[in-house]
Amino acid sequence: MTKYSGGCHCGKVRYEVDMELQGLISCNCSICSKKGLILGFVGEKQFSLKSGKEILKDYQFNKHHIHHLFCTNCGVSSFANGAGPDGSLMYAINVRCLDDVDVTTLQTKPVDGKSL
Ligand SMILES: [Zn+2]
Repeated sequence: MTKYSGGCHCGKVRYEVDMELQGLISCNCSICSKKGLILGFVGEKQFSLKSGKEILKDYQFNKHHIHHLFCTNCGVSSFANGAGPDGSLMYAINVRCLDDVDVTTLQTKPVDGKSL
Protein backbone atom coordinates (compact mmCIF):
# COMPACT_ATOMS: atom_id res chain seq x y z
CA MET A 1 0.00 0.00 0.00
CA THR A 2 1.11 3.53 -0.73
CA LYS A 3 0.26 6.40 1.57
CA TYR A 4 -1.31 9.35 -0.20
CA SER A 5 -2.48 12.65 1.16
CA GLY A 6 -5.28 14.62 -0.37
CA GLY A 7 -8.07 17.05 0.22
CA CYS A 8 -10.25 19.80 -1.12
CA HIS A 9 -9.20 22.89 -3.05
CA CYS A 10 -9.00 25.42 -0.22
CA GLY A 11 -7.05 23.02 2.01
CA LYS A 12 -9.44 22.94 4.97
CA VAL A 13 -10.35 19.30 4.31
CA ARG A 14 -7.27 17.07 4.46
CA TYR A 15 -6.92 13.31 4.68
CA GLU A 16 -4.45 10.47 4.37
CA VAL A 17 -5.26 7.21 2.67
CA ASP A 18 -3.41 3.93 2.15
CA MET A 19 -4.26 2.63 -1.29
CA GLU A 20 -2.99 1.60 -4.68
CA LEU A 21 -4.15 3.48 -7.74
CA GLN A 22 -5.67 0.37 -9.28
CA GLY A 23 -9.22 -0.71 -9.90
CA LEU A 24 -10.23 2.91 -10.35
CA ILE A 25 -13.57 3.66 -11.85
CA SER A 26 -15.11 6.45 -13.84
CA CYS A 27 -18.84 6.18 -13.57
CA ASN A 28 -21.62 7.66 -15.67
CA CYS A 29 -24.22 7.93 -12.89
CA SER A 30 -25.97 11.23 -12.33
CA ILE A 31 -23.54 12.58 -9.75
CA CYS A 32 -20.22 11.12 -10.94
CA SER A 33 -20.72 12.38 -14.47
CA LYS A 34 -21.45 15.92 -13.29
CA LYS A 35 -18.54 15.98 -10.88
CA GLY A 36 -16.07 14.23 -13.18
CA LEU A 37 -15.11 11.82 -10.43
CA ILE A 38 -12.42 9.18 -10.72
CA LEU A 39 -12.91 6.94 -7.72
CA GLY A 40 -10.88 4.39 -5.81
CA PHE A 41 -12.34 2.42 -2.90
CA VAL A 42 -10.81 1.70 0.49
CA GLY A 43 -11.91 0.32 3.85
CA GLU A 44 -12.38 2.42 6.95
CA LYS A 45 -8.96 1.57 8.42
CA GLN A 46 -7.16 2.83 5.33
CA PHE A 47 -8.67 6.33 5.59
CA SER A 48 -7.82 9.03 8.09
CA LEU A 49 -9.44 12.47 8.06
CA LYS A 50 -6.85 14.97 9.30
CA SER A 51 -8.85 18.18 9.21
CA GLY A 52 -12.09 19.73 8.05
CA LYS A 53 -14.65 17.47 9.71
CA GLU A 54 -16.58 20.51 10.96
CA ILE A 55 -16.97 22.12 7.54
CA LEU A 56 -17.92 19.04 5.54
CA LYS A 57 -21.51 18.95 4.40
CA ASP A 58 -23.30 15.74 3.56
CA TYR A 59 -25.32 15.53 0.36
CA GLN A 60 -27.56 12.51 -0.12
CA PHE A 61 -29.98 11.50 -2.83
CA ASN A 62 -31.75 8.46 -4.20
CA LYS A 63 -31.51 5.64 -1.62
CA HIS A 64 -29.39 7.72 0.79
CA HIS A 65 -26.78 4.97 1.00
CA ILE A 66 -23.82 7.15 0.19
CA HIS A 67 -22.67 10.29 1.96
CA HIS A 68 -21.47 12.66 -0.76
CA LEU A 69 -19.38 14.91 1.45
CA PHE A 70 -18.08 18.24 0.22
CA CYS A 71 -16.21 21.22 1.63
CA THR A 72 -18.60 24.07 2.40
CA ASN A 73 -15.82 26.58 1.82
CA CYS A 74 -14.61 25.63 -1.67
CA GLY A 75 -17.28 23.12 -2.77
CA VAL A 76 -14.89 20.31 -3.70
CA SER A 77 -15.89 16.69 -3.06
CA SER A 78 -12.64 14.95 -2.20
CA PHE A 79 -14.21 11.76 -0.84
CA ALA A 80 -17.49 10.05 -0.02
CA ASN A 81 -18.40 7.22 2.29
CA GLY A 82 -21.11 4.70 2.92
CA ALA A 83 -21.78 1.11 3.88
CA GLY A 84 -20.24 -1.42 1.51
CA PRO A 85 -21.91 -4.65 0.37
CA ASP A 86 -21.00 -6.38 3.69
CA GLY A 87 -22.24 -3.46 5.79
CA SER A 88 -18.83 -2.13 6.75
CA LEU A 89 -17.91 1.51 6.15
CA MET A 90 -16.20 2.12 2.82
CA TYR A 91 -14.59 5.27 1.50
CA ALA A 92 -14.72 6.36 -2.12
CA ILE A 93 -11.68 8.49 -2.79
CA ASN A 94 -11.75 11.10 -5.53
CA VAL A 95 -8.25 10.39 -6.81
CA ARG A 96 -8.24 13.74 -8.60
CA CYS A 97 -7.91 15.24 -5.12
CA LEU A 98 -4.77 13.30 -4.14
CA ASP A 99 -1.54 15.29 -3.96
CA ASP A 100 1.03 14.74 -6.71
CA VAL A 101 -1.01 12.25 -8.73
CA ASP A 102 -1.12 12.73 -12.50
CA VAL A 103 -4.60 11.47 -13.35
CA THR A 104 -3.77 11.34 -17.06
CA THR A 105 -1.48 8.38 -16.34
CA LEU A 106 -4.13 6.34 -14.52
CA GLN A 107 -6.12 3.49 -15.94
CA THR A 108 -9.80 3.73 -15.18
CA LYS A 109 -12.58 1.31 -15.79
CA PRO A 110 -15.85 2.72 -17.04
CA VAL A 111 -18.78 1.75 -14.85
CA ASP A 112 -22.31 2.07 -16.10
CA GLY A 113 -23.77 3.46 -12.89
CA LYS A 114 -26.52 5.15 -14.88
CA SER A 115 -28.12 1.79 -15.61
CA LEU A 116 -27.74 0.32 -12.12
ZN1 LIG B 1 -12.26 23.40 0.73
